[in-house]
Amino acid sequence: MIRIRRLQKSFKGKQVLSDIDLDIEEGQVVSIIGPSGAGKSTLLRCINLLEVPSAGNITVGSKSVSYQTNAKGKLTFLSQMRLSWLRTDVGMVFQQFNLWPNKTVLQNIIEGPCIVKKIPRSEAEAKARSLLAKVGMLEKINEYPANLSGGQQQRVAIARALAMEPKVILFDEPTSALDPELVHEVLEIMVNLAREGMTMVVVTHEMNFARNVSDRVLFMEDGKITRDGHPEDIFGNPSPRMVQFLRSLS
Ligand code: ADP
Ligand code: MG
Repeated sequence: MIRIRRLQKSFKGKQVLSDIDLDIEEGQVVSIIGPSGAGKSTLLRCINLLEVPSAGNITVGSKSVSYQTNAKGKLTFLSQMRLSWLRTDVGMVFQQFNLWPNKTVLQNIIEGPCIVKKIPRSEAEAKARSLLAKVGMLEKINEYPANLSGGQQQRVAIARALAMEPKVILFDEPTSALDPELVHEVLEIMVNLAREGMTMVVVTHEMNFARNVSDRVLFMEDGKITRDGHPEDIFGNPSPRMVQFLRSLS
């Protein structure tokens, strides 16, 4: 479902991702863990092209983009065209929810399907209702984000991602901004999505999720993936750097 080859990203000459190779199968749930600054968010942001990679190739489903930048490091026009085309297959859920504050829950959800995918409004609304029911938020359909708890906003953000019918959803620390008592309501929805076979890449500090829900765990440090395997192997046989990281969480 995702194939990454020799992905590199630098910011102002500082290399943040170095030669990442990664293959993710359809239906796989992959957790990415690792210390702050390791490049986890940058990797996710490169997969859905919120960041323009410095070099490399990314394929999502059957869509492939090779990065060719001009002398100024800007993508060529052709790459730009391919970028928005590829991005529609990749959903993203952020730590800070990123709902549009001046739109209701319903408007937040139907915006993408109506504008980007040109789906008729009535159809998009019907779909939004069923997704909101799925995340337990139907009764808040006409609320504004400011009137919702963090957990509720994140459930709406997940429904919004699903409304685009992505092939993959990327989650960047989806529960890190939540009060502890609200974490479970978001994790529960993620567990259900995982069970339904959604392909998911999840940057998380929730080690229970990484260990018990994901099929595979990646440990990142210094812009590289240094461990990649089944949760039992990774947690059962941690590297010294990973032991240090796990201690820092508790
Ligand atoms: P993580 O998510 O693992 O904490 P990030 O991917 O956010 O790590 O960041 C990796 C490195 O890239 C950090 O050193 C960070 O300061 C740097 N970085 C991230 N985004 C930018 C940016 N837009 N401009 C400059 N440096 C950045
Ligand atoms: Mg991050």
